[in-house]
Amino acid sequence: MTTERTHVIVGASLAGAKAAETLREEGFEGRIVLVGAEDERPYERPPLSKDYLRGEAGREKVYVHDEDFYAEHDIELRLGRTATGLDTANHELEVDTGERLRYDRLLLATGAQPRRLSIPGAGLDGVYYLRSVLDSDALRERLDRGGSVVVIGAGWIGAEVAASARQRGLDVTVVEPASVPLERVLGAEVGGIYRDLHTDHGVRMLMGTGVEAIEGGAAVERVRTGDGRELDCDFVVVGVGVEPRTGLAAQAGLAVGDGIQVDELLETSVPGVFAAGDVANARHPVLGERIRVEHWANALNQGPAAARNMLGKASAYDRLPYFFSDQYDVGMEYTGFARSWERVVFRGDPATREFVAFWLVEDRVVAGMNVNVWEVTDPIKRLIRERVPVDDRRLSDPDVPLDQLASRHASVST
Ligand SMILES: Cc1cc2nc3c(=O)[nH]c(=O)nc-3n(C[C@H](O)[C@H](O)[C@H](O)COP(=O)(O)OP(=O)(O)OC[C@H]3O[C@@H](n4cnc5c(N)ncnc54)[C@H](O)[C@@H]3O)c2cc1C
Repeated sequence: MTTERTHVIVGASLAGAKAAETLREEGFEGRIVLVGAEDERPYERPPLSKDYLRGEAGREKVYVHDEDFYAEHDIELRLGRTATGLDTANHELEVDTGERLRYDRLLLATGAQPRRLSIPGAGLDGVYYLRSVLDSDALRERLDRGGSVVVIGAGWIGAEVAASARQRGLDVTVVEPASVPLERVLGAEVGGIYRDLHTDHGVRMLMGTGVEAIEGGAAVERVRTGDGRELDCDFVVVGVGVEPRTGLAAQAGLAVGDGIQVDELLETSVPGVFAAGDVANARHPVLGERIRVEHWANALNQGPAAARNMLGKASAYDRLPYFFSDQYDVGMEYTGFARSWERVVFRGDPATREFVAFWLVEDRVVAGMNVNVWEVTDPIKRLIRERVPVDDRRLSDPDVPLDQLASRHASVST
C-alpha cells in the first residue's frame, strides 16, 4: 500500500492546468492527476473568438503549457476522460473508463458550457456555438466560406464573434433583446458605445428583440425575430451565455447554486474538495458577497490559489474581478464588480474610443473600464479596493493623474 499523497484535478483547462503547475511550484511531491474531457491539452479560450478565429494565430498560441510540461513535472494528464462520479466519503473519483482514483485533495475546475437555444430550428445545420477549440475551428472554416451570419446575443462572445466575422468581410446582423450590447455588465450608456462601434463597422444591430425561430429545410436559411422580421442568412452563431458545469458536484451532494459554492479559501461544503474558475461561486472578502466570475483572469489566478489552499496555506482569494475584450481596433480592460450603480463618470471623450469609464456608488468607484488607454488598471484597483472617496470633477479630468487620485495608500497586491 502506498502512502504517497494524491491530488486530483477535474477539468484540464486554464484553472486546472495552473493549479497543477502551482502544486509542483509549491513543493508538492505526491501524485498529481489532471483529468480532462477534451482531447486537447489545456488551452486558453480568449483567442478562439479573436485572432485564432480569424485565422491570424495558430494552435501553438492557445496552449497553457508546452507539450512536454506535464511529463516534465510528473503531472498525469488524462485527456479525453470524463469524471463521472464522486464519492466524497471514500475520497474517490470515478472516471468514464471505470477507473476509481483515490484522492487526498480534489479540485473541481469543470468550467462552464454554452447555454443552448430551445427555439424551433435550433437543431438545424448551420447553428454554431463557441466554447472549445474545435468549435472555433468549425466556425473559422465557416467564416472562410463567407456569406451572411446572424449572431444571436450581444454579450462578450456574440460581440467578439460579430467583430471577427465582420473583419473577415461577412455580412453580419446581431439580434439582442436588451437595448444595447453588453447591457447587463456595462449598462445602457456604455453599452451604447459598443453598439455604435459595431454599427460604424457595418454590422446591423437589431436591439430590443429576440429570435423566435430559426428556419430552413435541412440547414439554416433565415431567422425570425420577435418583432416580426425575417432575416435571411447562411448560418447562425449563438452567444446567449454560459452555465456552470455543476453536475458532478451536485450528484456528490456538494452545495451548489449558480456554480459550486465555495468559501474564501475556495473550499466547497465538503472539506478537502475545492473549486476554481468559471464553475466556482466564491465568497469574496472585499466585495462582501458571493460571486461567480466567467473570465480568464479569474481562472488564471483562482486555480493557483486553490492549489495553495489544497496544500494547507489557508489564504483567502480576494482579487478583484478583471477581464478584457478586443473588438476591431478597440481593446478594453474592466476591473471591479457592479451589480448596480448610481452614475457613470467618463475620463476622456467616449466618442474618440479612448477613455476610462467609472461606475460609482455615492463617492466610491465600484468598477472601472479603460478603453484603448493602458497602464491604469493598478490605480483603478486601488480606488475600488480601498474605497477611496473621489470627486467626480477630478475623476473626469485627464490632467489629474489617476495614481494621484488613488495615492492615499501604498500599492496593493491584486
Ligand atoms: C470564445 C471565448 C472567448 C473568451 N474571451 C475572453 C476574454 O476575452 N476575456 C476574458 O476575460 N475571458 C474570456 N473568455 C472566458 C475564459 O476563457 C474562461 O473564463 C476560462 O476559460 C475559464 O476557465 P476554466 O478553467 O474555469 O473553465 P473552462 O475553460 O470551461 O474549462 C473546463 C474544462 O473542464 C472540462 N470538464 C468539465 N467537466 C468535466 C468532467 N466531468 N470530467 C473531465 N473534464 C471535465 C471541460 O471539458 C473543460 O475542458 C472567453 C471564453 C470563450 C469561450
